[in-house]
Amino acid sequence: MSRSAHPAGPRYADVLPEGHYTAPPADLNSLDSRVWSQTVERTQDGAVAVGGLDVRKIAEEFGTPAYVMDETDFRARCRAWRDAFGQDADVFYAGKAFLSRAVVRWLYEEGLNLDVCSGGELATALAAGMPAERIALHGNNKSNEEIHRAVEAGVGRIVLDSFQEIARVAHAAERLGRRQPVQIRVTVGVEAHTHEFIATAHEDQKFGLALAEGQAAEAVRRVLRLDSLELIGIHSHIGSQIFDMAGFEVSARRVVGLLTQIRDEHGIELPEIDLGGGLGIAYTPEDDPREPHEIAKSLGDIVTRECEVAGLAVPRLSVEPGRAIVGPTAFTLYEVGTLKELEGLRTYVSVDGGMSDNIRTALYDAEYSVALVSRASAAEPMLSRVVGKHCESGDIVVRDAFLPADLAPGDLLAVPATGAYCRSMASNYNHALRPPVIAVRDGEARTILRRETEEDLLRLDVG
Ligand SMILES: *Cc1c(COP(=O)(O)O)cnc(C)c1O
Repeated sequence: MSRSAHPAGPRYADVLPEGHYTAPPADLNSLDSRVWSQTVERTQDGAVAVGGLDVRKIAEEFGTPAYVMDETDFRARCRAWRDAFGQDADVFYAGKAFLSRAVVRWLYEEGLNLDVCSGGELATALAAGMPAERIALHGNNKSNEEIHRAVEAGVGRIVLDSFQEIARVAHAAERLGRRQPVQIRVTVGVEAHTHEFIATAHEDQKFGLALAEGQAAEAVRRVLRLDSLELIGIHSHIGSQIFDMAGFEVSARRVVGLLTQIRDEHGIELPEIDLGGGLGIAYTPEDDPREPHEIAKSLGDIVTRECEVAGLAVPRLSVEPGRAIVGPTAFTLYEVGTLKELEGLRTYVSVDGGMSDNIRTALYDAEYSVALVSRASAAEPMLSRVVGKHCESGDIVVRDAFLPADLAPGDLLAVPATGAYCRSMASNYNHALRPPVIAVRDGEARTILRRETEEDLLRLDVG
């Protein structure tokens, strides 16, 4: 399905996209606090600043494109999650959303734990000094080497994802003379997506062990027979960019149901449950995510109620937000290059990055907002499509947006809410150099992940 090409269709069929942006916003210069991090503001002279720094200065010093991360906002979000869940719960940041050593240190300092799902993420976490007992290892196809390294490092938990993995982790733990804490990942029959949750066809995916088919209960039996594994709990992750708590409610109820079954069959009460991540954020002002304290209350109430009904002691709860912590903390700063006006359709605004630094629009049809940030403008709104510089017509950053009609090459645009799954999914397509991540705080900016160079590319190319 291509929405951008209409060879035979009516010429204007796709001018005003369905859903968002059916009308231009009242003021193109305003910055909606739902999509921008907390220290972002438009200053007296019309340019935008973050952490007290003018974006033009950031562009001048670090170049574009660049991911600009608001450290104050990141830390505040960590604290909000920590405080909301309190002492009887653990918050694991999902490192796959974005991971660097600086981020690991912020997490450590703010009292969060960390999920990793590969050897590379584990290496980064350990290199930055995250204590191993605060790390959880995930993944549907962990290699023996990754398992060995995780057990050797002493990670706090490995989340088991298949029958074969039970044997692999047990083998590694035996060889190392350890008793490895594990959780079992179950699929509860709910797959939640943006704005909806579907309770069918959910178990037809690669993660976890199905509750409904009895695989989860069988996994529990096998783990309990192995001395080298310590079963500490059950894990469920239902999807991503979720706004509706109903999916979590079903998930919690079914996980508690399994805990009850385990008590009845084995006479033990498991001490922990993990309800995963997937909490949604605002990419456009129309998105309306829940606050951490609402989420904590909602999940806490569900688990407590279900345990009361079952006569179980309330287990320790953990959650794994990735996007909800890092997503809103960063924007991508681009410089405008070529502008191409298609009469009666829209203006294509090309920026100096694209699908190599943000694949989500092409991959998921994700929606983003965008603003002119190097100056204010009083010009009329112009229906625009922000595109990258790659050799692909699907190389779209923001499908539909209104930008001021006086937009010109050299202007700076910023796309907010790109902290999650943009740098971590970035590629070298067209031999693009992956952009740096610049952390800004209290008027100072520093590189936490540097821009790639052509030497970096050539270093891998051994001829
Ligand atoms: C991806 C993932 C998360 C984080 O998801 P977000 O949408 O970023 O919150 C948490 N737990 C598991 C197991 C995941 O795979």
